[in-house]
Amino acid sequence: MHGYDFMLAPLISLLCMAIGLIVYLNNRKDSSGKAFAIISISLGFWILSAFLSDVTKNEFYSLLLNRVTFVSLFFFMGGLLYLPFVFPARKKYANYIKYFLIIFLFFAAIFTFLSSGIVASITFEQWGSNLTYGKYFLVFEIFAFGSIIISLILSIINYVKSEPEDRTKLRLFFEGLFIFVLITIVIEVVVRNIVGSDEFYRFGNYAAIVFVAFIAYAIIKHQLFNIKVILTEIGVAIVNIAILEQIFLPRSSWQVAVNVILLIIVAYGSYVLVKSVIWEIKQKEQLQDLTIQLSQANSHLKELDEMKTEFVSLASHELLTPVSAIEGYLSMMLDEHLAKVEDPTAIRYMDRIYRSSKRLARLISDMLNISRIEEGRLLVEKKDVNLTELIKQVIDEIKFKAEERKQRVVFEKSEIRSTKSETISNDKNSNELNTEFMTYGDPDKIKEVVVNIIGNSIKYSKNPGTITVSIKKVPKVTVEDVWKRVEGEIKGRPLDDQEAIKSAVDPHFREIVGDEQILISVKDQGIGIPKEELPRLFKKFHRVGDYTTAESQGTGLGLYISRALVELHHGRIWADSEGPSHGSTFTFSLPDISAKEQIIGLEKEIPQDKEQLKPLAKPMNANISDKFENFPISDEELKKRNHTK
Ligand code: ADP
Repeated sequence: MHGYDFMLAPLISLLCMAIGLIVYLNNRKDSSGKAFAIISISLGFWILSAFLSDVTKNEFYSLLLNRVTFVSLFFFMGGLLYLPFVFPARKKYANYIKYFLIIFLFFAAIFTFLSSGIVASITFEQWGSNLTYGKYFLVFEIFAFGSIIISLILSIINYVKSEPEDRTKLRLFFEGLFIFVLITIVIEVVVRNIVGSDEFYRFGNYAAIVFVAFIAYAIIKHQLFNIKVILTEIGVAIVNIAILEQIFLPRSSWQVAVNVILLIIVAYGSYVLVKSVIWEIKQKEQLQDLTIQLSQANSHLKELDEMKTEFVSLASHELLTPVSAIEGYLSMMLDEHLAKVEDPTAIRYMDRIYRSSKRLARLISDMLNISRIEEGRLLVEKKDVNLTELIKQVIDEIKFKAEERKQRVVFEKSEIRSTKSETISNDKNSNELNTEFMTYGDPDKIKEVVVNIIGNSIKYSKNPGTITVSIKKVPKVTVEDVWKRVEGEIKGRPLDDQEAIKSAVDPHFREIVGDEQILISVKDQGIGIPKEELPRLFKKFHRVGDYTTAESQGTGLGLYISRALVELHHGRIWADSEGPSHGSTFTFSLPDISAKEQIIGLEKEIPQDKEQLKPLAKPMNANISDKFENFPISDEELKKRNHTK
């Protein structure tokens, strides 16, 4: 035993205990802090008791102190075993290990301390005490060796799996352990064999400080806030003690008085400083907690939203079949040839039910389509489409319905350069094929849009009039300019209205492509739309005016779906109206066929699960005229609208 041992051993052991305690106190909620505290504090005890066992001249005390050393070693190894289960992150089965260790270490400590199973006896040498191991020393060896091996293997696994930030921590842990184990092996094995006694084991113990320092640094490295408090407290304490000391030095009484006042001021200042640092840290911690909570709430909401859409899609799908069956049977009952219902009142009621069920089927299929669009599950099969033909076909299918409502549907297509326009009205049939207006798209979806818009213009026209469908080509900038204006207008409106520009489709679909755009517009002489309503039309469930009356026939979903369908084709849709009674014009754009390659290229980049894709849902036995069966607006409502103008 040398003079420096008397200084080194207590100092290192106290340092180990202090570091362990500080880390534990600052990370009380954290299991890794606890594991580290066990390692560090037991290391402190180990070094201290080993040192004291050498210092004491009493054989009995020395034996007991040597046993304390081994109890500490058990705890040290236990801590080492526990650490990788909670550091850098807590594992699921960490609790089992914890309970096993608590029970095992409890019995191991009692057994080691009270029996001669581990440490049998000691003999005093000139340098200190030499040990004779007991019969069960193997238990200690197995536990120690096993703990180190398991800890090492798990830490390596943790290291491989962990994030870069945790890797630094783990690397520090390894480096510390490596240096400690290396020094210990060199001293305990190599030196022991050369010298033939335990004389130099202490140096191995002293090396433990390297290990403790490395882990302490690793654990607190990312919790510098807490260290800030400790540093502030230490600094403040030093200043206060220095002033306090001044008071007790022999001085004149007024100097003492000044010092006392100074001390009071400084003490108060210190108190405020420490408090403010703690407050600042608490704020930061709260902010961190809140950020975590917020991001959790956010992902929860997203999940709920997805669940909601999934539910709507599932429910709509399940509803469509029975509703279609009701509709089918009702139509058979209403058919004189198929069933006999004599009572005219019953027939009237049944007719109402039939109409309602048709509307219900329409609503359900609209909702199903919306969920398909919003989930990106709508099957879009694009090919070359002749828009002139497509529009003619729709007009053909719709013209009888239009005639019933005294509407004439005319089709105008103008060439880009010439002003010449060709007119096809519903009484004049022209089958001339025009190759000018070709696009690359899904004919089914484009047809749906055209039917929706022409359907609306028939539906919302009360007096006899003309519906003009026109088609022309414009440069890309025209569409971009119009859309910028529409978007600008909507952005200046309340949040609720801004929904009208929230797109439901992938941005790849939305991009306006090609230099030439085809514009299709439908102009009617119907009831018109108040200016302030224009930007809202394309919102989900939006309908102009008060639609709580029984007269209401629409769903308010047609334009929302039309907009999404147009956007799936790199187009835009908008509405214009001079106000109530002045008719309305709905216009949408589609890219010219020349942009076909660009479209194919863009859409390749959209991630899609092909098996999930579904076509547009349509109610069974649906036909175009279902969409605008009755004029849906009462005279009163119409008067009111004229009034608001
Ligand atoms: P629905 O027609 O089923 O109510 P839409 O989404 O197709 O739903 O239309 C939304 C609203 O826009 C309609 O309720 C109607 O108030 C208004 N609207 C649509 N087209 C016209 C039109 N051509 N003339 C006047 N109003 C229209």
